[in-house]
Amino acid sequence: MAVPKYKTSKARTRRRRSINMAKTAPNLVNCSNCGNKILLHRVCPKCGFYRGKQILEPEDMA
Ligand SMILES: [Zn+2]
Repeated sequence: MAVPKYKTSKARTRRRRSINMAKTAPNLVNCSNCGNKILLHRVCPKCGFYRGKQILEPEDMA
């Protein structure tokens, strides 16, 4: 089995991880009903709409 000739430095490891293990920003879209920024494929927490239909009661009314 091939064995690495040199120890991978902390800097090299961390540089690789900063690229390959970087968290990506959540996919935010505007709510079709109220325009609020919401996560994709989630019910809007502000107005309770999802795919053009009322799913939940809005928080300030319930
Ligand atoms: Zn909404």
